[in-house]
Amino acid sequence: MIRFALVCDRGHDFEAWFSSGSAYEKQEAARSISCPACGGTDVRKAPMAPAILRGKSLRGKPKQSERLATQERKKTYAFLKGLRDQLTANADNVGPAFPEEARKMHYGETEARNIYGEASVDEAKALSDEGIPALPLPPLPEDHN
Ligand SMILES: [Zn+2]
Repeated sequence: MIRFALVCDRGHDFEAWFSSGSAYEKQEAARSISCPACGGTDVRKAPMAPAILRGKSLRGKPKQSERLATQERKKTYAFLKGLRDQLTANADNVGPAFPEEARKMHYGETEARNIYGEASVDEAKALSDEGIPALPLPPLPEDHN
């Protein structure tokens, strides 16, 4: 057993026992360690000399990672939106008729073109079983700005 001094993102320090250093790493990565004071799971090893390192530099870190998370979300949103805009600009919206239209094109009943629309998971799977490439369009998350 190893005892580690830990600190949550709100600056509460506490100690916890782990069977090994790698067991700690695993639990930290899975966010299964929670702060006994606030229940937060953004927990990491406390610096060896917390009394010295506590203060602005330590408290500044969570803000930085929050900013990064926001940037990451915005990037993902922009990517999804761009993908969707590109798809919808170059394809016909056939709505719920998508599986039917996709089949017609695949079997040469209508001229091949880019289409997009709605298909249930089952329908999309059926299409792919028939060898018809149908890509799911990811739902666009709400724009948080
Ligand atoms: Zn805490």
